[in-house]
Amino acid sequence: MSKKPPFSELVRAFWKPYLRLLHYMLPYRKRFALGILCGVLAGSLSGLIPLVIKKAGEPLMAAGARLPDKSALWSGAVSNEGPGIEEVIGIALLIPLVMVARGIFSYLNVYSLAWVSLRVLRDMRTQLFGHLMSQSLDFFHREKAGTLMSRVMSDTRVTQTALTSISGDIIKDPIAVLTGIVVLVAIDWKFSLTTLVLFPICILPIVIFGRRVRQAGKAEEREMAQMSVILQETFAGVRVIKSFGREDYQTTQFARSSDVQCRNSMRVRRSSDIVQPLIESVSALGVVLAMLYVYVYGISFAKFAALCAGIFLLYNPVKNLSRIPMLMQKCMVSAQNIFELLEILPSITDRRESKALPPVRGEIVFDNVSFHYTPENAAVRDISLHIAPGCKIALVGASGAGKSTLLSLLLRFYDPGAGRLTIDGHDLRDITQNSLRSQIGTVTQETFLFHDTIFENIRYGRLDATAKEVEEAARAAFAHDFILAQPKGYETIVGDKGCMLSGGQQQRLAIARALLKNAPVLLLDEATSALDSESERMVQAALDRLSQGRTVVAIAHRLSTVLQSDCIVVMDQGRIVATGRHEELLAASEVYRSIYELQFHHAPV
Ligand code: ADP
Repeated sequence: MSKKPPFSELVRAFWKPYLRLLHYMLPYRKRFALGILCGVLAGSLSGLIPLVIKKAGEPLMAAGARLPDKSALWSGAVSNEGPGIEEVIGIALLIPLVMVARGIFSYLNVYSLAWVSLRVLRDMRTQLFGHLMSQSLDFFHREKAGTLMSRVMSDTRVTQTALTSISGDIIKDPIAVLTGIVVLVAIDWKFSLTTLVLFPICILPIVIFGRRVRQAGKAEEREMAQMSVILQETFAGVRVIKSFGREDYQTTQFARSSDVQCRNSMRVRRSSDIVQPLIESVSALGVVLAMLYVYVYGISFAKFAALCAGIFLLYNPVKNLSRIPMLMQKCMVSAQNIFELLEILPSITDRRESKALPPVRGEIVFDNVSFHYTPENAAVRDISLHIAPGCKIALVGASGAGKSTLLSLLLRFYDPGAGRLTIDGHDLRDITQNSLRSQIGTVTQETFLFHDTIFENIRYGRLDATAKEVEEAARAAFAHDFILAQPKGYETIVGDKGCMLSGGQQQRLAIARALLKNAPVLLLDEATSALDSESERMVQAALDRLSQGRTVVAIAHRLSTVLQSDCIVVMDQGRIVATGRHEELLAASEVYRSIYELQFHHAPV
């Protein structure tokens, strides 16, 4: 039988996320305290209003009753018999005065808490984004981009909104209710008791429907994340969707999610909106009791007005308080989502003692390296390879042979399960990731261009590059001429993922970017799809230029790359099965011969 955790532990577990949230508010505690103080003042003033109405009303009623001729008011004829007009105005002004003071404190309360919570939102989002950026590649393979977007955008927003409302209401409203009740009781306890006797019944709908709102609210949040997944995947995969003519299919999927979302929101509304009319109905019964009381006992009009105002003013704070459990639940669901994400540690981290990699010559050694993505299958096994500085290596092998995995290991996207990988004698695990990657340039098959200008896309290779250096890199990559032919030259926006440019042009921009980075090691994943021969020639020439004087490890799909390389590494099922030059391998390696027949024989040179 499972043992129940002790009560104190349950309490601690319940409050832990709140305490963690409070932690985010610490830097803004002064403003937060000011907000709360204003809330206390606004709440207290709110409770005092009936008292003011009574205090102001009684002498006014008395004076009004004594006044035989209202025209005497302005002649000052009544001044000796009761309060004068100045005094009457003074008393009457007390009411707007208290209301204005309450308004000012309420405003300062809401404003200060919004000030704090919006900063908490900003900090949380930035921290979350930074945390996501620190994650290793495997994390992004595991998680859906849409869900992550929903965490950063929606969960933080829900937390912030709930936080504003909760911290705005949780102090102000109980004080308003308490002072309100105390004042009502002080004015006429029998009347107040008769009217408020039904008040506790209001708690029932709050509890019952609050629970339903919480459940529906959770489903609403879940579906919101699902919706952003559909959106993200649709926009990212728009090419595939269009080419398969699956627009209607995607639209149906979105419509379904939208429909679920609509039903969830309706469930929330159905339960949350019923609370108010129920409370109002109960209050109306209270009014009946109040009238009966007035009929039986008879109270002065000023007193009656004060008591009615007091009861009326209780309504809003009670309504707000009834929302708090729901808000807290909403806030917690979202905050937990955020905290869970923040607790995931990156699988690849810099050690505390890691040093920056000094400028390298580019000597790479795989020393008996093995690596598993999943426990069942090794992606690469017992890889031993020595690559001298400035050497050009061509990796060849069937799809799934482990070529990309070797490049990922070199970039330290993953750590080897066994063996060691060094660059200029430094084990990759002993150097910082940034310093390693700053010395490795990559050009991959899928060129990723940002929705920005051509200039900025090239400059991404080295952010401090000057305009002249960007242009030089573009010239070296044979991109300058086609860039100038664009409508705005270097300032042309390339469109989402570079869709305004041809495949060959995109590749040359990626090469220019790598040229600008000027890293001593170059990892190349050649495009499998053939470009037209003119583009192909240009890309090849640009790549040749980029490769000069660097250590190059290329996943080769072109015969020319294979022929020009110093060493071809033949991979099969995660192992290196042969190494050597083209002719040697053709003669000696069965695997190479079949790869050559399949891939290179007809491939562009
Ligand atoms: P190649 O680049 O030669 O086509 P890869 O290095 O991409 O081969 O893949 C080697 C093996 O690792 C394949 O069996 C592939 O299915 C597996 N693999 C690649 N990437 C992942 C991943 N992210 N998660 C799990 N398995 C993977």
